[in-house]
Amino acid sequence: MIQVAINGYGTIGKRVADAVRAQPDMDVLGVAKTRPNFEAETALEKDFDLYAAIEERADQFAEAGLEIAGPVEDLVDAADIVVDATPSGIGAENKALYEEYDTPALYQGGEDADLVDTSFNARSNFADAVGADHVRVVSCNTTGLSRVIAPLREAYGVEKVRATLVRRGGDPGQTDRGPINDILPNPVTIPSHHGPDVETIFDDLDIDTLGMKVPATLMHMHSLNVTLEAEVDAADVRELLAEESRLFLIPETMAIDGSGKLKEYAMDVGRPRADIWENCIWEESISTVGRDLYLFQGIHQESDVVPENVDAIRAVLGEADAEESIELTNETMGVGL
Ligand code: NAD
Repeated sequence: MIQVAINGYGTIGKRVADAVRAQPDMDVLGVAKTRPNFEAETALEKDFDLYAAIEERADQFAEAGLEIAGPVEDLVDAADIVVDATPSGIGAENKALYEEYDTPALYQGGEDADLVDTSFNARSNFADAVGADHVRVVSCNTTGLSRVIAPLREAYGVEKVRATLVRRGGDPGQTDRGPINDILPNPVTIPSHHGPDVETIFDDLDIDTLGMKVPATLMHMHSLNVTLEAEVDAADVRELLAEESRLFLIPETMAIDGSGKLKEYAMDVGRPRADIWENCIWEESISTVGRDLYLFQGIHQESDVVPENVDAIRAVLGEADAEESIELTNETMGVGL
């Protein structure tokens, strides 16, 4: 059994903990938190051992009536691998801790690409992470773009990608984020950081991205234009993308017109936390004009990277190849709408 430590038990960390627990070849050794909030309480209710991420604040847990198993150092020392799901920039500060205990670590998309040996997307470059000590699971948007670009490159060749990302202002729990009533070019400079980030997965890809932020919390929306190396029928692209296990092609008959109904659908089918691990591509938006392909996709920012973290654990420890790992992760989590 692979013993997994989760350092940072927030939006991403708590989802990764549940996904790891569902795997037949992994155990959650414990989760580390900085302070005793509702997430610390639910971690204990779910029988996860809780570790104090910051020594000086360890007493706060006892004061709140929450039992601590020890300091984060003990957790890191005992684990086969750490999933760092702390806020952007904190992962970089934690790297020395993981090196001290010689424990390989996964970081999240908020960290810089140069912190790690390789950036990771299971569908696109699984093998690059085999045996690496420090691996970054790319951001929700980069994951969403990479999952579409990989099959298109393999099937037709890609000359150029242009993507406009309409980004949610914050996650539902992020009460301090905005805008509340505005539309921001964000970042206002072009290209946005997403294009270079996708190039950490495909180093020979020509991609430009533009970003905007809107007053929404449910999902991101991508407007994608890919210039292929061949003229292709839209029907063939639909068939190609429908084969991909982490792409959900929303059929016209479902009458899902936006992220609100997508989340409603996720709740109706009983998804935990209404998570949507798949890219949600509107089937009828998949269109071609000459060599240009167009489509719209919704990306659930809080959850699409979760199966990728599970696969990255197996990649780093050399426990499975891409196909085996993706299939096992999908089956145990229930990925595939
Ligand atoms: P979050 O704020 O929801 O959770 C982070 C958790 O880490 C919190 O519980 C916080 O208390 C804890 N923490 C803070 N400092 C810590 C420390 N020193 N040691 C241990 N724990 C600490 O953040 P999140 O949204 O889960 O983001 C985590 C990472 O995942 C970031 O790199 C982010 O860019 C990336 N990411 C976030 C999203 C998203 O939409 N939320 C999507 C993809 C990737």
